[in-house]
Amino acid sequence: MTGDVRMDHAAHPPTDDEEIQDWNGDCDEPMEVAAPLPAASEDSNRGIESRLESLQLETKAATHVKDKVGVVPKEVEDLNDHEEDRKRHLNVVFIGHVDAGKSTTGGQILFLSGQVDDRTIQKYEKEAKDKSRESWYMAYIMDTSEEERVKGKTVEVGRAHFETENTRFTILDAPGHKSYVPNMISGASQADVGVLVISARKGEFETGYEKGGQTREHVQLAKTLGVSKLVVVVNKMDEPTVQWSRDRFDEIESKMTPFLKSSGYNVKKDVQFLPISGLAGINMKTRVDKSICSWWNGPCLFEVLDSVEVPLRDPKGPVRMPIIDKYKDMGTVVMGKIESGTIHEGDSLLVMPNKANVKVLSVQCDENKVKQAGPGENVRVKLAGVEEDDILAGFVLSSVANSVGAFSEFNAQLQILELLDNAILSAGYQAVLHIHAIVEECEITDLIEQIDLKKKKETDTKKKKQKRKPFFVKNGAVVLCRIQVTNLVCIENFSVFPQLGRFTLRSEGKTIAIGKVVELPQAGSSTFPAA
Ligand code: GDP
Repeated sequence: MTGDVRMDHAAHPPTDDEEIQDWNGDCDEPMEVAAPLPAASEDSNRGIESRLESLQLETKAATHVKDKVGVVPKEVEDLNDHEEDRKRHLNVVFIGHVDAGKSTTGGQILFLSGQVDDRTIQKYEKEAKDKSRESWYMAYIMDTSEEERVKGKTVEVGRAHFETENTRFTILDAPGHKSYVPNMISGASQADVGVLVISARKGEFETGYEKGGQTREHVQLAKTLGVSKLVVVVNKMDEPTVQWSRDRFDEIESKMTPFLKSSGYNVKKDVQFLPISGLAGINMKTRVDKSICSWWNGPCLFEVLDSVEVPLRDPKGPVRMPIIDKYKDMGTVVMGKIESGTIHEGDSLLVMPNKANVKVLSVQCDENKVKQAGPGENVRVKLAGVEEDDILAGFVLSSVANSVGAFSEFNAQLQILELLDNAILSAGYQAVLHIHAIVEECEITDLIEQIDLKKKKETDTKKKKQKRKPFFVKNGAVVLCRIQVTNLVCIENFSVFPQLGRFTLRSEGKTIAIGKVVELPQAGSSTFPAA
């Protein structure tokens, strides 16, 4: 019981609208495009209107994003012959409670977009049947290892690609198990769009959402990690306990909405709910037939995904690519998502924090070798000048000029979600820091100031005098603190570079706080700029 109470407490840190806005406003990506997702409509006229709007948005989005985001067409045109490279590129992460249908939905998307042929599907169907798990065959497309198939769970963040009319997608499938949250973090830290899968089946929505399930934790992590747009698919609508019931869909939407708001999402602008059946593939590539679901007038999943607008990224900025993995292949290959800048074959770069000078031998984007890749792209970069053993996940591939800094301490604004056993947090508190691809033990060495988001504007003007160091803080508190790590970490101030400046703190497998880097020591010294 106490667990439930704590969960609720943690799930609604800032409940006041103003407070949420303040926290959220601070956290929002500065370069984000503030265009809404196509709205689901309440009546058919609005449905058509919103579809028209979304089609216009799609066209606009495609042209706009092609000019501004990640793959810059002109440059790419010169270098790649593939038609698909003219499309914008987005990363999608599937989040939600275990068994909600993430793998099934992901598998179905791949099937519907022609990534998997009928023969393979038949093979999976047979394999699933042999293991008496008939209904899992779609999930097999995503859950590729034998171990995962036997257990019917997704263990690793599996990658897959598919395309809609205007967009090339990489799916980062995130599993739902508690112990796999670190994987979900690495998936979500690279994603532009989150597909939150909710099971509408009787009892399953409740387990995932109300009784300490992972729905809440995943949503909060996704927001902190920079997933700015969320598509909430209410899945299993075909299930006998649901039967495409509008009441059930409305119930889930109305229960989720306040929580999504309290997690920092602008529900009108950044969130789209829609009913689907991942298993049957309904309302996914094409809109649900009226004979199945008479009340839904909104878009289908592919339409929503194709028209999502994403934050702008700077292809001309300094190179920043957090390394998520590495291996040897006639050179040292590093993998990751380019967060800023463009990496060209032949470039001289730095691997930070160990300041290794490297040369780019080749760049691979998806399965294709390319001459260059821009921000937003998931790439494999072959490097000369560094041994694979000298690189760790969390290192950053950086331009030589304006290189990323490496720090052993920083000041952060921390929002406490849920401390273990309802404990308090004071100086000396130890936890595990997750920031882009970094996982590092850390200690909170100083609590500088508790922040009352509601009163922030007032106190800002006369703050210096009133500053009082708290001895401890509790669940729900927002605090300015200093964090120390044992090894140097490559991070950025959140206001300058949100992707490298937001983090989560975890302890004993639970997320206890989310935060952002607000102050870094001055270059070449361990002193912080004067407050
Ligand atoms: P994950 O843990 O979130 O990846 O969930 P899975 O995709 O592995 O699905 C869990 C179970 O739910 C499997 O038995 C699926 O066949 C079933 N399932 C998933 N989507 C649907 C759906 O749309 N309708 C029905 N009836 N069952 C589904």
